[in-house]
Amino acid sequence: MHFATLLLTLFTGLTPLVRCIGDAYDNGFLDQAIKLMEESPLLDTHIDLPQIIRSLNRRPLDALPQLNGSYPGHVDIPRMREGRLGGAFWTVWAPCYDVTGEDPGADFNTPTNHLRDSLEMLDIIQNMIALHSDDLQYARTSTEIMTAFSSGKIASLIGMEGTHLLGNSLGALRIFAQLGVRYLTLTHTCHSAFASSVGSGTPLNDVHEGNGLSELGKELVKELNRVGIMVDLSHTTPETMRQAIALSEAPVVWTHAGARALWDHPRNVPDDVLDMIGDGPGQKDAVIQSVFFPLFIAGEGSNVSHVADHIEYIANKIGRNRVGIASDYDGMYATVEGLEDASKYPNLVAELLSRGWTTEEMRGVLGGNLMRIMDKVDEVSESLKERLPSSAIWEKRKDLPSTNWGGGGPQMYWPPDVKDTVDKMQIRHDEL
Ligand SMILES: [Zn+2]
Repeated sequence: MHFATLLLTLFTGLTPLVRCIGDAYDNGFLDQAIKLMEESPLLDTHIDLPQIIRSLNRRPLDALPQLNGSYPGHVDIPRMREGRLGGAFWTVWAPCYDVTGEDPGADFNTPTNHLRDSLEMLDIIQNMIALHSDDLQYARTSTEIMTAFSSGKIASLIGMEGTHLLGNSLGALRIFAQLGVRYLTLTHTCHSAFASSVGSGTPLNDVHEGNGLSELGKELVKELNRVGIMVDLSHTTPETMRQAIALSEAPVVWTHAGARALWDHPRNVPDDVLDMIGDGPGQKDAVIQSVFFPLFIAGEGSNVSHVADHIEYIANKIGRNRVGIASDYDGMYATVEGLEDASKYPNLVAELLSRGWTTEEMRGVLGGNLMRIMDKVDEVSESLKERLPSSAIWEKRKDLPSTNWGGGGPQMYWPPDVKDTVDKMQIRHDEL
């Protein structure tokens, strides 16, 4: 600790922003970090604040005004401001079956509340942005992010975590695209009708061929490209990652992950998948946003320097123009030392500056790299605008066509020619 910092601590009782993690910050790097963050937005691609609001309150909208003060968890407006946060992806998420205890059935056809819960999460996010319009501004594109940032607002984007939220339906996905969802994580901790997950530590039994994407999942990747939603491969199996990278016409993202070679947790990205990222033949562009959750970083005792190690490792493999920052704040039960809440982002920026990252490289890490990927995803979507929406449905669905509406009795609402057609239909649900 610097003598001046020590004096400040002794005489004022204030805790310095960085608590003796290293001497790196004492050489002006923290000041430099804050200055940089005031010029270029730091975009955090994964903040779970909406689920905290929904978890803590029977009437979540009534709790929104509290964000102006101190709110439970890692995030509220004063702490985001202190941490110079430039933009956030608010997460639409509801727990997987393993957490809720629901059984979706082997065919994923047992109804759940996930679609309702996702719409409620979107409603909370929309109302949070509207109520706090002095601090938050909705954005979908890189241009909108920069507009929000230049007017002093925290750009507010929407990410959706897990295809278990989609009701097995590409139609639902298209409506979420209209509602502003900007990335879709192909799984959370459970398998879905679309894709295979690495679970939450213990390997899950395979449900799709090769433990990757289902046929509908392959169709989903193409549809995400068409509607301009980023394909997020966090939480997925390596085979889901490999298949999605190969299939996607647009760059892909990991909105919150680390490097498997540095810390052997299945949530992290393995080297052979990193090898698929780049400009070379057969490679795809991507950005990997490094997560802060100690479980994925270095276990107990993880600190800001370990997070920087993950960023540097990934950057050494795929380029400093392909890394970024994602806290997972409000979605983890522990934090790393030096990044305890949303007021602490400058510590990570200072750490990288102290390691010799240039100002230009840092502008990329903060948000420039991600915005390049967002622009490319939008370009691909624009180039596909003549492509018709995918009509694919989950192959194991049993409610379409609707031959048994009305419980199999007389179909009083069908015009006679419709009933006649249904009576002659070859396919019945019990044959599916
Ligand atoms: Zn997650």
